[in-house]
Amino acid sequence: MSVLSRPYFHDEAAAFQHVEEILWPQGPVCHHCGAMDRIYKLKGVRTKPSKKSPEGIERHGLYKCGECRKQFTVRMGTIFEESHLPLHKWLQAIHLICSSKKGISANQLHRVLEVTLKTAWFLGHRIREAMRSDDFSPMGGNGGTVESDETYFGKLAGTTGRGMGNKNVVLTLVERGGKARSFHIASTTMKAVLPIVNKYIAKEAWLMTDEGMHYRHIGKHFPKHRAVNHSADEYGRWEYSRDGEKFTAINVSTNTVEGYYSIFKRGMKGVYQHCAEHHLHRYLAEFDFRYSNRVALGVDDGVRAFLALKGAKGKRLTYRQPC
Ligand SMILES: [Zn+2]
Repeated sequence: MSVLSRPYFHDEAAAFQHVEEILWPQGPVCHHCGAMDRIYKLKGVRTKPSKKSPEGIERHGLYKCGECRKQFTVRMGTIFEESHLPLHKWLQAIHLICSSKKGISANQLHRVLEVTLKTAWFLGHRIREAMRSDDFSPMGGNGGTVESDETYFGKLAGTTGRGMGNKNVVLTLVERGGKARSFHIASTTMKAVLPIVNKYIAKEAWLMTDEGMHYRHIGKHFPKHRAVNHSADEYGRWEYSRDGEKFTAINVSTNTVEGYYSIFKRGMKGVYQHCAEHHLHRYLAEFDFRYSNRVALGVDDGVRAFLALKGAKGKRLTYRQPC
């Protein structure tokens, strides 16, 4: 037996049961009116006969609501809606993406799942959407430390040359021992960076940055801001402070966020060679998700897949154009 031999990876009824248990912990909820009483499971319903399947295909996970008289399944209102792919294949795809550290390309999904490349591409982006965090609470409260930094990535649409001005800018906030949050921003200017830092980092947090111009005035907002002086070849230093009996050593560095970027860049270079600018935020959501739910924080592959499934709700994607 292995992880991959679990029934919900192969059997459609088991796949529905698995997803229902996660998305409906209190039992089925009508997608149309929100009712939870008088819900009936419809058994033995089949799709209309076709040339390919003259008997029709069994419709799994079909319910009828006694309140509004409408039918629904757990796929409605999730990333699984409007996709003809069997649910057990979705679960395979989620498992693959959640258990690979650097991500998995559409090409590999296409080969492993035996779906078309186009389907694989849609799957990947929909799962990334499920991974997008909707937790907007400030980072670094209760004396935590947050590192903020920017990196340049890929090429902006319509530009040539190798200059920094032609690249996408990514801003990432990482709480030491905690989560990461990345943003695709217009430039490394105060105008672009400060509102995000102000919004997502607790005012009482230790804030570590480099000596970039846009971080100059940040002390007004964050009294515990420290900058590491990279241009003087400094990659970290220790500062000591004493508050009565309490003695604190502070590591002034941005090494944690740089570690995040090294995973991100290896993944993007190795796995996602071509990423259109307007999809970059989805890849960032994927790398943030995996980083924020990593083994060091006690999250294993199974829990990560569970969290991605939880996020599948309310995140239907409607775009059609490929990358
Ligand atoms: Zn209803």
